[in-house]
Amino acid sequence: MDYDKVIRRIYNEVTPFLGKGKVADYIPALAEVNPEQLGIVVETLDLKSFRTGDSEIPFSIQSVSKVFTLAMVISHMGEELWQSVGREPSGNPFNSLVQLEHERGIPRNPFINAGALVITDRLISLYPRPKEAILDFVRSLAGTDDIYYDHRIACSEREHADRNMALAYFMKSFGNIHNDVETLIDVYCHQCAIAMSCADLARSFLMFANRGVNPVTGKRVLTISQSKRIGAVMATCGFYDESGDFAYRVGLPGKSGVGGGIAAYMPGKLSVAVWSPGLNSYGNSLAGIEFLERFTTDIRSSIF
Ligand code: GLN
Repeated sequence: MDYDKVIRRIYNEVTPFLGKGKVADYIPALAEVNPEQLGIVVETLDLKSFRTGDSEIPFSIQSVSKVFTLAMVISHMGEELWQSVGREPSGNPFNSLVQLEHERGIPRNPFINAGALVITDRLISLYPRPKEAILDFVRSLAGTDDIYYDHRIACSEREHADRNMALAYFMKSFGNIHNDVETLIDVYCHQCAIAMSCADLARSFLMFANRGVNPVTGKRVLTISQSKRIGAVMATCGFYDESGDFAYRVGLPGKSGVGGGIAAYMPGKLSVAVWSPGLNSYGNSLAGIEFLERFTTDIRSSIF
């Protein structure tokens, strides 16, 4: 398969969508990003990388980080984790508070903000230096030490984190947050502010495509079962209340972030990362989804 040719052609088809979405502005530092950018990287399990557009520019991965923290925590806690967080699509926006009271402080899944906060809370209990541990983990998956926190974005989000603070305190009232909420929000805002390029992201998602083994180091990171379970949650919950439509249009497990990044993969075959900061009304990259829909259609391959 000539992925170079495929992604270049689709890149041209998708450029009319640039500027149609809206950059996230509830985190002021993200509102400054030029929405007209588009980066695409496909990487196959033999570490061959196919790139076009703004593929090397680091951007804020935001909620894509929730997959990494989930992988770290699940590898320690295993199935016990599911007592504190569900694995059902929420059908609600990523920062919604509405279900939490009915469901007694147990978030629907680890990819809405409430669920990700529970995961980060457990991570803080597991690792004495959580921020360093997250960065180490991501660097080892991406096969590079050149990945950092964008402190300006982390601070910008922390100053406007009232809603996430509310979620965390509310869950704490049900006993589902164990650590100090200020510390939790600080770690969470940092994980969201990791800056990575599409090239880094595609490489780091190959571990999921490779059923839990990091193809860069050959080391097993997750059991086959853990890798399968995280993939299942990505396929059902990775795009919030657009998860069903993403499965319908694209048909890959993946995760989006409000920085405009999307990382996805085809088990046993490849990973793909796309970045374009303009978002649709669900908070997912508009041009990114347009690209991915055309990509899986063109290569005639999806998990379905
Ligand atoms: N840091 C963002 C938040 O908590 C992440 C949301 C997202 O990427 N969907 O609101």
